[in-house]
Amino acid sequence: MNLILLGAPGAGKGTQAEILSKKLDIPTISTGNILRAAIRNGTPVGLRAKSFMDAGQLVPDEVIIGIIGERLAAEDCQKGCILDGMPRTIAQAEALEKAGIPIHAVVALDISEEEILRRMSGRRVCASCGSSYNVEAVPPRVEGICDNCGGELIQREDDTPETVKARLAVYHKETEPLVGFYDQRGLLRRVEVSSTKEGTTAKILDVLTIKA
Ligand code: AMP
Repeated sequence: MNLILLGAPGAGKGTQAEILSKKLDIPTISTGNILRAAIRNGTPVGLRAKSFMDAGQLVPDEVIIGIIGERLAAEDCQKGCILDGMPRTIAQAEALEKAGIPIHAVVALDISEEEILRRMSGRRVCASCGSSYNVEAVPPRVEGICDNCGGELIQREDDTPETVKARLAVYHKETEPLVGFYDQRGLLRRVEVSSTKEGTTAKILDVLTIKA
């Protein structure tokens, strides 16, 4: 089963992807996490991506399509995967189709802009494994420490209010058209984000007709 999680920055795609990944026993592929790891490791992709990411802009399609092609070919994706943060443009969605990657469903997480801005200020990510948290809604068991790997939790550089505004503008212009793209293909499932991560997961499982 290949699933796509669509939604504005801060909608909770990363958190839901992790939960679904454990439940369905398929990996999550987060292009954001792959790019942040590339930056940490100083790879050519990382060097190319950094300035776009710092400015809240999208990394060029050809970079993303290259990364994802390699990742989807890996052994652990053969049973399926959850795509978190990809595709973000029509060109990326068309590249998935061209590559013959079957998509079973696209879950679009709906959230108000006010709630996004509130959530982004409390968002923390693990500097080692990329797991996401929120100081209010999804706190770690021990403050500042990742539940999964014990790594340090940090605020993302692109979570400053100014960059968040740029990312939202990019989302509306480049990514939102994917809602119509996948609706036309009969794949779209809309989910209104709940106040708790468990509530949102329950709604996602419901639209996917998967037993909780
Ligand atoms: P995310 O962690 O998904 O919020 O992504 C963080 C940043 O990485 C985005 O603001 C973009 O600059 C870049 N990025 C991640 N995924 C993509 C993608 N599919 N296409 C273009 N840029 C991406």
